[in-house]
Amino acid sequence: MHCSVTDLRHDERSATLRADARRYMTASAPQSPLVHLIDAAIGGHLFVCDGSRLFDADADLFAELRIAAAGEGIAGVLDRLGLGSPPRIDDQPLADPPLHALSLAIAQKCNLGCTYCYAQQGEFGGAAKNMTRKTADQAVDLLLRGAEPGARLNLAFLGGEPLVNRAVLQAVTRRAAGLAQSRGVILNFSITTNGSLLTQADAAFFEEFGFAVTVSVDGPAEVHDALRPYKSGRGSFDRVMANVRPLLAMQREMQVTARVTVTPRNLALRNTLDQFLAEGFHSVGFSPMLRSPNGNDEMQADTLEVMLGEMIDCGREFERQSLAGKRYAFANMVNAMREIERGTHRPYPCGAGAGYLGVSADGDLAACHRFVGDDEGVMGSLADGVNRRRRAAWLAERHVHRQEPCRGCWARYLCGGGCHHEVIRRGRPACDYIRGWLHYCLEAYLHLSARRDFPPVPGAAAFA
Ligand code: SF4
Ligand code: SF4
Repeated sequence: MHCSVTDLRHDERSATLRADARRYMTASAPQSPLVHLIDAAIGGHLFVCDGSRLFDADADLFAELRIAAAGEGIAGVLDRLGLGSPPRIDDQPLADPPLHALSLAIAQKCNLGCTYCYAQQGEFGGAAKNMTRKTADQAVDLLLRGAEPGARLNLAFLGGEPLVNRAVLQAVTRRAAGLAQSRGVILNFSITTNGSLLTQADAAFFEEFGFAVTVSVDGPAEVHDALRPYKSGRGSFDRVMANVRPLLAMQREMQVTARVTVTPRNLALRNTLDQFLAEGFHSVGFSPMLRSPNGNDEMQADTLEVMLGEMIDCGREFERQSLAGKRYAFANMVNAMREIERGTHRPYPCGAGAGYLGVSADGDLAACHRFVGDDEGVMGSLADGVNRRRRAAWLAERHVHRQEPCRGCWARYLCGGGCHHEVIRRGRPACDYIRGWLHYCLEAYLHLSARRDFPPVPGAAAFA
């Protein structure tokens, strides 16, 4: 057998990353539902789940916490430290939250034939169709109705491929922007596109309205073409990148992000991240494919372990670049640092069925874009309004305190219990990955915030 030095280096790198991933999965295994302990290079730290609070712990306290967390005594130790306050998140579901974001399935049709598409080639299991101008206007009216001046709202265009229905997209954007301005409401626009139909005129339009443009690209040409071909089977990468480059050059008001869906076939994340950042994307984010309608290309335990190793490798580069004062727009890491800094704690994974709803081309309301055409997430219609009874039942049932095994998981208020769609349709196959990633992010945050120039740990207290 003949192996090149490059192959050997590649194998060595893969083995190192997997070992790292396993180490983080082990370190992040749930022990106590109240706390999580982080044995970082800069010292022991206590993460209190309630309120997502981080504290230094000296060696003696850390040793005591280790013993208590593994047994019954942790609540007593927290009380003694003054951290056993009444829970910040109780069992009460969110009640009648105001609507602040809508996504329009403006075209339930698509020109690509991605292997794993949640929208089943854009048609959501039904006939291909476009949203009419009337339906799109009704959706905007629903979003703006009752919004107070100064409110911040988001209107998202998804599909299928939204640019299949460009004329309606542009008309509804112009009208919505005008209405928002006249009411003193801040309305942000976003679009998720496969990039294959983008034109120079689209670039100018998105720049004019300050769109957040997310382009779905799955990696370098070869893997992208295998995962995201045209319906004819021809690869789409070259066309997508040729179309996207003018947007990348133009972005001032708009921001263009690359979104990579991670499957067992495109796991070289660091390489993908560096390639897309070099292209000029504002940021690059990764999301594992956990549920596809046909089961194609779903991630399993072994590939999630590989993905975690790659994510940590990307995260370490983010740490290095940040400490050198350089921008390295690895979106997952940037978002995690921001959430940890804020002390985010939430009883749901996202706004689906709460402040965020999806609208089908026919004007039906769904818990989010992934529930369009899915009976599980029906939330009323534009004609009849939001079904408040269904929404209340959803919010009660989807609260993280009602989810197993989330109730006993230290990560529950950071994770929120996982994407509702994936959980309902597949379960929770990615918990070790999620906890391993969060543990790494907490550790990275501690490293970064320990350095001058970085914000302090929120609410940090040293128990000397
Ligand atoms: S879904 Fe999230 S909160 Fe629930 S057990 Fe898994 S990692 Fe924990
Ligand atoms: S349910 Fe899943 S797909 Fe829908 S908004 Fe939440 S995280 Fe996203």
